[in-house]
Amino acid sequence: MSRKTYTGADVDVSFDSEVCRHAAECVRGLPAVFDTQARPWIQPDNAPAADVVEVVGRCPSGALRIERQ
Ligand code: SF4
Repeated sequence: MSRKTYTGADVDVSFDSEVCRHAAECVRGLPAVFDTQARPWIQPDNAPAADVVEVVGRCPSGALRIERQ
């Protein structure tokens, strides 16, 4: 189990690297929030919360999850 939570002002996103299938829906959908070059690589405050929720919903593996909104 390697789920980690990334806290934002309006929304918290968690990610489990063992579940991720690298489909890249997240980085394609919201590159300002999901940036593998940045640390932390998920920055929930870099887009409106509704957009973060929408793109997390596109994750095909369940690696990304909304923990709070
Ligand atoms: S959309 Fe989900 S499965 Fe695809 S790279 Fe992002 S976290 Fe991994």
